[in-house]
Amino acid sequence: MKHSGYFNQFGGAFIPEILVPTFDQLEAAYLEAKADPAFWAEYKQLMSTYSCRATPITYAENLTHHFGGAQIYIKREDLNHTGAHKANNVMGQGLLTRRMGKKRVIAETGAGQHGVATATMAAKFGFDCTIYMGAVDVERQRPNVFWMEQMGAEVVAVEDGSRTLKDAINEAFRDWVTNMDDTHYALGTACGPYPFPEMVSWFQSIIGTEARQQMLERVGKLPDRVYACVGGGSNAMGLFSGFLDDPEVELVGVEAGGRGSGIGEHAARLAYDDASVGVAQGYKTYFLQNRDGQMQDTHSVSAGLDYVGVSPILADMHETGRARFEAATDAEVVEAMKLTVQKEGLIPALESSHAFVQAFKDAADMHSDQVILINQSGRADKDIFTVADAIDDPKWKQFIIAKADEYKKANPELAIAGGV
Ligand SMILES: *Cc1c(COP(=O)(O)O)cnc(C)c1O
Repeated sequence: MKHSGYFNQFGGAFIPEILVPTFDQLEAAYLEAKADPAFWAEYKQLMSTYSCRATPITYAENLTHHFGGAQIYIKREDLNHTGAHKANNVMGQGLLTRRMGKKRVIAETGAGQHGVATATMAAKFGFDCTIYMGAVDVERQRPNVFWMEQMGAEVVAVEDGSRTLKDAINEAFRDWVTNMDDTHYALGTACGPYPFPEMVSWFQSIIGTEARQQMLERVGKLPDRVYACVGGGSNAMGLFSGFLDDPEVELVGVEAGGRGSGIGEHAARLAYDDASVGVAQGYKTYFLQNRDGQMQDTHSVSAGLDYVGVSPILADMHETGRARFEAATDAEVVEAMKLTVQKEGLIPALESSHAFVQAFKDAADMHSDQVILINQSGRADKDIFTVADAIDDPKWKQFIIAKADEYKKANPELAIAGGV
């Protein structure tokens, strides 16, 4: 490999020997594409005709007045096709897959959002597609599984281990080892072995590049602080990329604080002290693990932020102090989301709402000539079951019960098979 893929002590590529040629091929294709201005031009063209780019920046006037501090702007990644920034990554990897002459893509997915985005890309490019998803998640995320299958993807329910995301990742790597000649593994975030953290961040940098220019045009200056939620770290890396060379811009990443500190209660690898540095899933970073290196359970109200590891690039930015990391609790997240819906008519995903929590806390203490920018990484339509539960809306419950009754009457044999 030409690059070590290290960000100080973090990163690397701890991969089985058999995958080394595949990673070399991917690295070469990525570096070539990066050096070829025609590739980025084609990528931008694809994103502007298929996924609503450039996404706008919205001035949140009512929230700004509500907090009475800094001016609040919002980058609208929720307007992407499939409802989140994930489209930036999968479409870029789709172009790269075609460039490598491969005809099949595989991906892991937890909540199903990356699975849906990848299945969409595969349909658009005419690739075969297999999505690995923990069996527990397949049961929990039926609407996303439904769309993946409609788009022609095969969804494999992984029965190993805890039957969730990390098991799906292991299974995807197993597939890749057997099918590397014709298959690309479209990893979903800025994690994993080199070159994935850097390559995914490069595709997502379209967020920050646009945002920087839009702020200069609209506001006439750079934001004082920018905020993004951090799962694996791809939307945060995307936004931060636009401001890395502007030391006066503070970068703030917000992790899932869940029910508060303590192993199993959250997924904050950087903001809390429960994680430690280790090597797993092909790279070195902070993991929520025990002393033997066994991955621990995580919890978050938002399915997209409950990963045990974090981007090695963000781990390094944490260590060097270039970025600040905070955590938002489930309860704070639901409140920030409700407020944003009521005040602005915007519907940030539960993931994105983590960034809003910290931005709101800070904005109130800032001066009215200061400016902050929040990345609304996705929209919450997908979260309606969770949000309606959290808000405890009685009319929603009646609706679900009525629907279930309707189905039971129409399908008596299924009702018995499902044990209801
Ligand atoms: C998947 C997802 C995330 C978390 O992923 P990152 O790689 O950390 O960006 C955040 N927001 C939304 C809306 C998502 O769907």
